[in-house]
Amino acid sequence: SAKPAAHKRKDETLLLGVRLTHPERVLFPEQGLTKLDLARFYEQIHEWVLPRLARRPLSLVRCPQGRNDECFFQKHPRAAIPDSVPRIDVPEKKGSAEYVYVETAADLIGLVQAGALEIHPWGSRIDHLEQPDSLVFDLDPDQGIAWKEILRVAGTLRERLESLGLTPFLRTTGGKGLHLVVPLEPSAEWEQAKAFAKGVAEAHAQDDPKRLTTNMSKAKREGRIFLDYLRNGRGATAVASYTVRARANAPVAVPIRWDELNAALRADRYNVQNLRRRLSSLREDPWVGFDEAARPLDAQLLKVMGVK
Ligand code: ATP
Ligand code: MN
Ligand code: MN
Repeated sequence: SAKPAAHKRKDETLLLGVRLTHPERVLFPEQGLTKLDLARFYEQIHEWVLPRLARRPLSLVRCPQGRNDECFFQKHPRAAIPDSVPRIDVPEKKGSAEYVYVETAADLIGLVQAGALEIHPWGSRIDHLEQPDSLVFDLDPDQGIAWKEILRVAGTLRERLESLGLTPFLRTTGGKGLHLVVPLEPSAEWEQAKAFAKGVAEAHAQDDPKRLTTNMSKAKREGRIFLDYLRNGRGATAVASYTVRARANAPVAVPIRWDELNAALRADRYNVQNLRRRLSSLREDPWVGFDEAARPLDAQLLKVMGVK
């Protein structure tokens, strides 16, 4: 019988038209999860990943030889990313810098080809680069903080945000903590958004100074939950929903409903192996209503937080 055309070498494969080299390379040794496994994972769940990830400048954690080898956080990965993945020039203090972004499932495969084990988008889209369309309140517990404390603080921060007329949505990070993500109409600028988030976080920490801090220093974080509002600056990022972390067990950052936040949950509950079961059992998007809940950080809200 005729051999198939020799258009690819033995140590590469094509997925959604993207050339994947070393598909059998093990990226997560604990699970034996290969590059091809990760590419297929994104191929299968791209409809969950893309709507909120598309058209945002990306930073990547790349681990070309797998998560137990060298990894680096890159804002400008350049040549490593296949040419098929779209780029945008983002203005910087001096000149501009090229960022990659994704629009299609094939683009996600392109990131996997480059050994991207984590995908970290901006809080704005390329269509409104200077006006964030979401805020992230990143709850970072010190080691030894009980889960029920994290759970409680997520709840009280939710109440504070709702009392401001905002609607936070909840995400497990795949790591230790949680993210509260607030949809915004893209109107306020980065500086205002960051100052607003800082104001909210500081007010919250002042109400519970034994348990909370907005101070990054190790000493101040000891025995506390760090309310990391710094995700909300221009160029800052937070891990994308439905994307993997370069940690043991290939955990995934996952949107959940507020009624799923309970004593049995953990930030690393979901991973590449069990996420699909969750998604196929869901009756609706856990973040249903996210887009409709977007509000502008208008003059009144900014004033409440003392933002000029
Ligand atoms: P966890 O729940 O374990 O805190 P996390 O994703 O929130 O998980 P953080 O360390 O709090 O982890 O980081 C928050 C975000 O800051 C990350 O999702 C990422 O987008 C960004 N970040 C992390 N490390 C770096 C880094 N070295 N350089 C720039 N940004 C980073
Ligand atoms: Mn965090
Ligand atoms: Mn953080």
